[in-house]
Amino acid sequence: PGVGKGTQAKILSKMLNVRHLSTGEILRDEIKKNTKIGKIAKSFIDYGNLVPDDLILNIISEEISAQISNKGYLLDGFPRTIPQATGFDNLLNKINHNLNAAINLTANEDELIKRILERGKFSGRSDESVNIVRKRQKIYWAQTAPLIKYYKGKNILKNIDGIGKVEEITKNILEIIC
Ligand code: ADP
Repeated sequence: PGVGKGTQAKILSKMLNVRHLSTGEILRDEIKKNTKIGKIAKSFIDYGNLVPDDLILNIISEEISAQISNKGYLLDGFPRTIPQATGFDNLLNKINHNLNAAINLTANEDELIKRILERGKFSGRSDESVNIVRKRQKIYWAQTAPLIKYYKGKNILKNIDGIGKVEEITKNILEIIC
């Protein structure tokens, strides 16, 4: 959380002309529209918890099957747990697609917490207060960090330093994936 993946994903998806799918944005949109999914999501997001895997996998599966892109996708904030990653592998198998790269943006944790709290002053997001931010970092280490090993094992992990100028980080990502 806070490493700048959303910023990079927006820039890269435009440059590469691929579909940008951000689970965080999709969920926030559902919350805004006060849908059933939005109500469920809110009860997790407001407390800094991850939304259940089944719900996330359904969203991704629907988004992807509604519009199968042969140009590819840039997934932002997904998968975030091992069950999401294995569920996603099954989905990709079914539609005969494969994952080319998993980008791990890295940064110092204290720096990130500072950044999110700064962003929280303006974002109006319910999950950017200090206690919730710390909880989200804890959950990241417990549930999301194991994906580093998972994708390393599949030989598609790309580590990129997430600290620096936005343009430089974009350039570094492009160099490694193109
Ligand atoms: P950040 O990068 O600041 O964590 P996101 O927009 O990616 O922001 O996610 C915000 C929140 O939405 C997460 O803390 C989590 O509660 C929920 N969320 C987003 N993506 C997922 C996912 N793949 N699985 C479970 N929960 C998710």
